Amino acid sequence: MTMTVREFSEATGVGAAEILKALLKAGVVANINQQIDYETAAVIAADFGIETVEYVPPQLEGIVENIRDVLAAQDPKDLKPRPPVVTIMGHVDHGKTKLLDAIRSTRVAESEAGGITQHIGAYQVELHGRKITFLDTPGHEAFTAMRARGAQVTDIVVLVVAADDGVMPQTLEAISHVKAADVPMIVAINKIDAPNANPDRVRQQLANAGVIVEQFGGDVPSVEVSAKLKKNIDGLLEIILLVADLNEYKANPNAPAVGTIVEAEMDRTRGPVATVLVQNGTLRLEDNVLVGGTTGTIRTMFNDAGKRLRFAEPATPVVILGLNDVPQAGDILQVMPDLTIAREIALQRQRKQRLEAMASTRGVSLDGLFSSIQQGKIKELNIILKADVQGSIGAIEHALEQLNTDEVQIRIIHRGTGTITESDVNLAIASHAIIIGFNARPDPAARRQAEQHGVDIRFYNIIYQLTEDIKKAMIGMLEPEYREVTEGFAEVRNTFRLPTREIVAGLYVTEGKITRQYNVRVLRNGVVIHDGRIASLKRFKDDVREVQAGYECGLIVEGFNDITTGDTMEFYRRERVERTV
Ligand code: GDP
Repeated sequence: MTMTVREFSEATGVGAAEILKALLKAGVVANINQQIDYETAAVIAADFGIETVEYVPPQLEGIVENIRDVLAAQDPKDLKPRPPVVTIMGHVDHGKTKLLDAIRSTRVAESEAGGITQHIGAYQVELHGRKITFLDTPGHEAFTAMRARGAQVTDIVVLVVAADDGVMPQTLEAISHVKAADVPMIVAINKIDAPNANPDRVRQQLANAGVIVEQFGGDVPSVEVSAKLKKNIDGLLEIILLVADLNEYKANPNAPAVGTIVEAEMDRTRGPVATVLVQNGTLRLEDNVLVGGTTGTIRTMFNDAGKRLRFAEPATPVVILGLNDVPQAGDILQVMPDLTIAREIALQRQRKQRLEAMASTRGVSLDGLFSSIQQGKIKELNIILKADVQGSIGAIEHALEQLNTDEVQIRIIHRGTGTITESDVNLAIASHAIIIGFNARPDPAARRQAEQHGVDIRFYNIIYQLTEDIKKAMIGMLEPEYREVTEGFAEVRNTFRLPTREIVAGLYVTEGKITRQYNVRVLRNGVVIHDGRIASLKRFKDDVREVQAGYECGLIVEGFNDITTGDTMEFYRRERVERTV
């Protein structure tokens, strides 16, 4: 066990400065967030006349960190078929929600007819007496956010493409996310009732995107549906069952339950409410459970038709009441024989989460690439490539292909134009990828998520520099680099032209601060349109050195006048980083 200097200080009541001094005397150079081990802590504590006892963590045997391990550990003869779990993805307005509603209303399970429909994050339907579970938070963002947390709940993805609109940017994103997850896909060509529906064009566009449907000789099943007219919904369900038969999804119903939290919230009258998808075993009323960093006893359980249940079998989504705190989507639920041990583990997990939030070293980085290759940890370098224009993507892909060696293959798992989003970062976490922004920048949410999880985002505007860096990283010769530190963001609220013809941007600083010395990047829809220096910074006609978030100011970018209302400006400085490998 280790703890930080800060935690040690809080636990002992000795000031952090005193502790750092004592550590220094003992030959340890530390800062307040540094981890120290038990032996060190004991020696320092003794200096202050404090006795210590080493905390021995409880038996961790049987604690589930990964549902796949549980399933792999089951005796094959105990396994029984279970319903498939399906997620629907696709471009906005292509009919994901409408399709989820159509499926639900046409195929309510026999036993649930007449029940009061509840939106609990997942539901089950029945066809030919067989059940199918749908997660009803559509989209690849939710899917990949779960995967980034290590959770895998989806067996099959239905990709919805509107027949009148065709393959669109989010369709392509969804395809990348599904491929990265290696989950089977079914294409549902929706809106075939629309006057200008053209399903053949959709199939062709999909082929161009690397998804070859069966009619074209590929192995991706596709169906034509109309969510609006509820046409061929059964056809879609038949195909889902067919894919399920091929993959033989199984679980052992006669085991203590494990599952994944799909949704959770605090209800004012009922307390913590969570939807769990049971993935192995059977969850029963009065079971004691460990759920992520919290615990509880199942007091009430009901399904998506609002029906109270006494038990829930594999692939069943159920709402549970009786937890002590609100878990997070993606947390694992497991039944525990002993609530005391469950509480211990929950506390440990909370502590670990806090530590992980502070230390952001989990992602793959270019810096560590060579040693990871040498240790045999990496055979593929996964890259997410975001660029300003489509044209650069092809050129970069081509250049990167030339770098493949016997030891490392470069795999571009997702490519696209525009802003680097939180969903890109989640994909990077889930797939251990680095992100390359070629004249493309992250939005603030993506930047925070990347910082928190140690995802390496590299920015380039020259292809040669990009390939050189990757080449050097692969042989462990990356030069000391200059890291960029983003200091602030501002919105262009208006612009006016000076007699000198220079454009003054009227800014509102939304985050951080601006100083005259920083570099400035002008962004339009997340794409860099200029990168340069500040010529002048003023507030009410006076030159100022610094402007903080929440204030307005006027700014001239050196040698650049193509600024319009709605642009974003990012302010940054460069800092030399010493290589530690
Ligand atoms: P989502 O953003 O993918 O969830 O899309 P929605 O389910 O909200 O649907 C977007 C729009 O398309 C809505 O106005 C729907 O009524 C319409 N829509 C959905 N499915 C169909 C369909 O099969 N045919 C037609 N004509 N319109 C549809």
